[in-house]
Amino acid sequence: MKRWDVIVVGGGHAGCEAAAAAARMGARVLLATHRRDTIGAMSCNPAIGGLGKGHLVREIDALDGIMARAIDRGGIQFRMLNRSKGPAVRGPRAQADRRLYAAAIQQLLAELPGLEITEGAVTDLQIEGGRCRGVIGSTGEALMADAVVLTTGTFLNGLIHIGEQRIPAGRVGEAPALGLSDRLIGAGLALGRLKTGTPARLDGRTIAWDRLEMQAGDDPPPPFSFLTTAITTPQIACGITETTPTTHAIIRANLSRSPMYSGQIASTGPRYCPSIEDKVVRFADRDRHQIFLEPEGLDDHTVYPNGISTSLPGEVQAEMIASIPGLEAATILRPGYAIEYDFVDPRELTPGLEVAKLPGLFLAGQINGTTGYEEAAAQGLMAGINAVLTPNGSPPFVLDRAEAYIGVMIDDLITRGTTEPYRMFTSRAEYRLSLRADNADQRLTDRGIGVGCVGAARTDAYSGKRQALADARHRIQTTALSPTALATHGIEVNRDGLPRTALDVMRLPGMTREQLASAWPFVSEIAEPIWEQLSVDALYAGYLDRQEADIRAFRRDEALSLPPDLDVMAIGGLSAEIRQKLAAARPATLGAAGRIPGMTPAALVALLRFVRRADAA
Ligand code: FAD
Repeated sequence: MKRWDVIVVGGGHAGCEAAAAAARMGARVLLATHRRDTIGAMSCNPAIGGLGKGHLVREIDALDGIMARAIDRGGIQFRMLNRSKGPAVRGPRAQADRRLYAAAIQQLLAELPGLEITEGAVTDLQIEGGRCRGVIGSTGEALMADAVVLTTGTFLNGLIHIGEQRIPAGRVGEAPALGLSDRLIGAGLALGRLKTGTPARLDGRTIAWDRLEMQAGDDPPPPFSFLTTAITTPQIACGITETTPTTHAIIRANLSRSPMYSGQIASTGPRYCPSIEDKVVRFADRDRHQIFLEPEGLDDHTVYPNGISTSLPGEVQAEMIASIPGLEAATILRPGYAIEYDFVDPRELTPGLEVAKLPGLFLAGQINGTTGYEEAAAQGLMAGINAVLTPNGSPPFVLDRAEAYIGVMIDDLITRGTTEPYRMFTSRAEYRLSLRADNADQRLTDRGIGVGCVGAARTDAYSGKRQALADARHRIQTTALSPTALATHGIEVNRDGLPRTALDVMRLPGMTREQLASAWPFVSEIAEPIWEQLSVDALYAGYLDRQEADIRAFRRDEALSLPPDLDVMAIGGLSAEIRQKLAAARPATLGAAGRIPGMTPAALVALLRFVRRADAA
């Protein structure tokens, strides 16, 4: 019988990060997926990052994950979103050449010793003694492991809808995963059903680009990975158009043929990524919606019209597309569609993403009710790490809400569950000023080194950067000039005779790096990423101190652990509803209990008293 340390099921964004993380930690890993050539495939939009999501990618990179390095190789338009806003909410985003991106992921996986890939459908789980001990492969053979990570995406009982047509599938042209859901239900897990959708794909040669506004990326393109020094892939522009009142009239006239409105689909879709039917109904007062026309590759004519995902029948899609400026003669290469799929209530999971009722089984990605490549990859990374740690008796690797967006997402999922596809936003994080995209490595790389998921190249690069940052910080805090000396460089401060450090001067409004370098020449020698970090820290200095105090208070509650087998019936003074909520979420700490929706201060006090009494006994 074949045996590995970790088996990962699914070669999507979650599965690739899970397999890579476990392999980086020295585990023998089997990645079992339907097709080798779809490893790293982007099911929907050809882009990585964005607001909130870009933060996740930087955090994945800080822990030596592969997503950022792959998009740096496959990205064809890089932009820093929200550039005009504060650095805390800026979000790196890049459009991808689909093929280059998947090729980069496949290459990065191939470089990992200890990682084996097998093609074929996993049909069942091996459960023995209440523990998951492996899977059944496509040929019926038993594949055994200490831990299994299930990352089946939209494939669990996947059902595609195009108008009245229904096709069982995991993605267009790919068979669904049947049977696994029954096994999970049989193990006592709560499953639900969600939906998502994708727009039609267009032939770029039939679009009137010359009549459209074009948008280029940033120049130079800002890389995602802390290890990338420059983007060398050629860059492209994308086009911008919008729907018209005629488009909206066509959609309204055919709403009864949209599965969402005909009652054919009852499950919930992503509120923040609505279909064009939803937009027209929900924002009835608007007569236009913006569409970005994003080329899917450098040598690919396929264009992704971002903003008009739909499940209307094919002929209605054609009519709708022809009503959009610049797309009058556009050919549809593939119609848009909606897909319904099963997901597992994420409250079934521990903070380490292990299924509480089925030890040895870890879940990551869309199967946990999230949507998006980045959310999936971030969970995959954490599940992969914990699939190595937990069977060895080590404590799970958990990031808290004050450390990382990854921590925010996992805590949200496991304490609150989700009734709609969950996606990341900066507004979900309480400690945004600390959790920035620019400082993800400062926050997390040491944690990753500690747990063994960071390779030698990044460890060296990070140590060098940490030293350079410490040196630069020391210099800007210790080199000072008098107001008179500063005036000779055109820097005016109060003439009170008190010397000012470079850091003091940096904090003055409107101060440029050039002005500072005139007074302190070493400033021009500081490498750009180090300078960026120093500038942001200087900008937020006072606020960060205040946030530190909030974080200390948060951690006091997080330090109060609740036992995993907490007997909610034994706690006096709780309503039946609160008991039910606690039993569903099984919070790991008092802080997590407080974040369960509907939890009352009185219930928390009762919980605290109970735990203190139990500790004292
Ligand atoms: P996937 O990327 O789906 O990967 C699952 C992998 O598991 C695949 O490789 C599959 O072959 C493999 N697999 C599944 N079952 C088995 C099995 N039994 N045996 C072996 N291998 C198996 N996200 C957004 O953010 N915005 C959107 O607008 C959006 N629209 C979408 C539209 C569609 C039509 C689809 C399909 C997805 C959309 N998504 C969207 C979601 C996005 O694609 C996913 O969030 C992301 O890909 C999830 O990653 P994952 O790793 O969980 O799963």
